[in-house]
Amino acid sequence: MSKPVLKISDLRASVEEKEILKGVNLEIKGGEIHAIMGPNGTGKSTLSQVVMGHPSYEVLGGEITMNGEDVLEMEVDERAHAGLFLAMQYPSEIPGVTNSDFLRMSKRARLEEGEKEQSLIKFINELDATIDELKIQPDMAHRYLNEGFSGGEKKRNEILQMKMLKPEIAILDEIDSGLDVDALKIVGDAVNSMRSEEFGALIITHYQRILDYITPDFVHVMMQGRIVKSGGIELMKKIDEEGYEWIKEELGIEDERVIQDEEKRPVRLDSCGTKEKLGL
Ligand code: ADP
Ligand code: MG
Repeated sequence: MSKPVLKISDLRASVEEKEILKGVNLEIKGGEIHAIMGPNGTGKSTLSQVVMGHPSYEVLGGEITMNGEDVLEMEVDERAHAGLFLAMQYPSEIPGVTNSDFLRMSKRARLEEGEKEQSLIKFINELDATIDELKIQPDMAHRYLNEGFSGGEKKRNEILQMKMLKPEIAILDEIDSGLDVDALKIVGDAVNSMRSEEFGALIITHYQRILDYITPDFVHVMMQGRIVKSGGIELMKKIDEEGYEWIKEELGIEDERVIQDEEKRPVRLDSCGTKEKLGL
């Protein structure tokens, strides 16, 4: 397998007629771990949803390619087939579909033409071993996808999917929210265990907590729907110590949010049906 490359060029996108992404450029290659940091409301989740093809978002311009192929032309399942994976900030619940059925179906969708499906026994063994590694409760495999899972269980479950599906490029959106220190370490170890030339990752976070466990090679800061600063680990350390104010001052940014007249809210309403669960 050759080294995967996800390339995002001058990407602009809107939701509900509001422009959110205003020209994002980013290239992630196999072997690399990138982090996008930034306060709430700066467009980070929008970027991840647009890459995966969420229907609520409209692409206004720019390009996304995966291994040279036009991602914007692909359906969501074709994007997964091409090797892209998203661990969502607010994973959806799918009553009626068990976790293990979902994984089996998703793995099937990743098969190349003519490739034989893994035997059921091999699948079960792999699932059991991964559940064990992630210290997930064994009965979660047979429960409906994300239904009644705690915040931390949902996040671990996203990592279970990532490990089972073995994407080439994974985007992990706020994978650290709701995790205690033990779970953070497990998630960090799981991502580190996938590090290879055939795997690249984008970790989206607004704190650096998860980055204590996964050392990124590149760190980017998002504000007002753009990547406004990029660097290495030193950038992350400086943000950890000093916050984001110095970047805003340096760049003359007063309000870092994309939609500036919007009230600051801890979680935005999303369109995936999870808002009821969040009590919104
Ligand atoms: P971040 O992940 O950096 O916190 P988001 O990408 O979630 O930022 O949101 C950026 C802006 O886009 C916010 O103003 C948010 O309210 C708006 N937005 C994002 N997704 C939706 C959506 N599905 N419906 C309405 N507004 C949205
Ligand atoms: Mg977000």
